[in-house]
Amino acid sequence: MRLLEGEAVTKYFGGITALRNVSFHIDEGEIVGLIGPNGAGKTTLFNVICCGYHPDGGVIKFKGEKITGLKPHQICRKGIARTFQIPRSFANMSVLENVMVGALFGKDNQEDLKGAREKAIRLMGLTGLIEKANTPAGSLTSIDARRLELVRALAAKPEILLLDEVMAGLNPSEVAEAMALIQSLRNKMGITIFMVEHIMKSVMGISDRITVLENGQKIAEGTPKEISEDPKVIGAYLGEAEET
Ligand code: ATP
Repeated sequence: MRLLEGEAVTKYFGGITALRNVSFHIDEGEIVGLIGPNGAGKTTLFNVICCGYHPDGGVIKFKGEKITGLKPHQICRKGIARTFQIPRSFANMSVLENVMVGALFGKDNQEDLKGAREKAIRLMGLTGLIEKANTPAGSLTSIDARRLELVRALAAKPEILLLDEVMAGLNPSEVAEAMALIQSLRNKMGITIFMVEHIMKSVMGISDRITVLENGQKIAEGTPKEISEDPKVIGAYLGEAEET
């Protein structure tokens, strides 16, 4: 089933075209990677999907229903959750309370406080955050803050999870752990994944398909093998390497 799709999505910021006629789709059960050089429009696309950025053109659909223009909390209740590149927790609340917020305001919204607490504790066990349950979120290390982003998003009971660079700053063994966790979210919990990631080895290793943006436009889409051999993609990344 087609879970999430965008048709000809365009977004301007003043004179900057952050997205130009970008079409994409994600089927239920897929892990789809979204890659592209810095400034390609990846985060803007996530923001248009679920964070209240109204596109200047095009439409986003979830299970065939138009969701463009809905408020972030309405989109979350439909079953779309995301993590942010820069973690956004409620700093003065504990880790446990942060995760409970996800459970209380997520899909179906049926949890009472007791149920939300039990669910939060169960999910924190997945990532080792359980030992920090009573720690204020604002005092977490950056790695734990990323874990909290993920667990809070999971608590919202998403059907699709948008991950924005969840592996940034992780060491190789933590990256391997994160890859295994993402695969188990799909394989064991049935959550569809759309992920922005700069660590090529990771995104190539776990994605079924990859979409590539450059300068706000989709330049390629295909399996990791097809993408890694695509001259346009190689050109986009080589261009960036030359600049840096
Ligand atoms: P990165 O990999 O560096 O995070 P990205 O692919 O996520 O980059 P975006 O952050 O989506 O790229 O940015 C796309 C373009 O839109 C860039 O030129 C950026 O400067 C611009 N942009 C993004 N958000 C805004 C904003 N709120 N106001 C003005 N310009 C913006």
